[in-house]
Amino acid sequence: MREAGRLVGKAHALVRDMIAPGITTAEIDLAVEALFEKHGAHPLFKGVAGKVPFPAVCCISVNEQVVHGIPGTRVLVEGDIVKVDTGCRLDGWCGDSAWSYAVGQIDPLGQRLMKIGQENLELAIREMGRRERWSEIASLMEKHVREAGFSVVEQFVGHGIGREMHEDPQVPNFVSKQLLRQDFKIVPGLVLAIEPMVNAGTKSVRILRDHWTVETKDKKPSVHFEHTVAMTESGPVVLTDGT
Ligand code: MG
Ligand code: MG
Repeated sequence: MREAGRLVGKAHALVRDMIAPGITTAEIDLAVEALFEKHGAHPLFKGVAGKVPFPAVCCISVNEQVVHGIPGTRVLVEGDIVKVDTGCRLDGWCGDSAWSYAVGQIDPLGQRLMKIGQENLELAIREMGRRERWSEIASLMEKHVREAGFSVVEQFVGHGIGREMHEDPQVPNFVSKQLLRQDFKIVPGLVLAIEPMVNAGTKSVRILRDHWTVETKDKKPSVHFEHTVAMTESGPVVLTDGT
């Protein structure tokens, strides 16, 4: 899983270098596809079943789009917030990571949203080494976002990951009755894709007619940060940060 995660981290390093005004989201997707192919890795997103199979290697979602955006001819412009989510399977094991990128200079609201979103992921990873159960962490994540005046997306959550991209348990970024029923212990051997989605306005989202793209109902911006994180005897280890 470390090797698969490392390659996903490498994909994000590539994306980070490419993000600039004038580039299309399809160009970013093709570059990641070529990287995975070069390393003999299987892209996990392409062909995922839905009303139409997901057509690309990355989900690329811009501004009010939350997750699952389809790469295409859209040209990035100064001030955009771009979320790139991708994953691969290498030698039978999966890695999954998403990051939010600023295109040039973004507005102060976007900057604060990016900061809170990234802090939220970092907080979750840090607390994995200190807490007994996931609900304790989800509660802290939810509090962090609420105090900033933002909202946590509830319709999409993180997940266990291993030989498959989506494994049990579900890993929500907020506390609910369902989580309290399905709460789990943070124990060595557990590997999670932790992926808070934070909205500037309402938590409500809708799916566009392309059957995939999720956007905020109030069209305010959203950010998404995800790492694949392994719990070990000596604490949490991030597998997808490129190290
Ligand atoms: Mg992902
Ligand atoms: Mg994921």
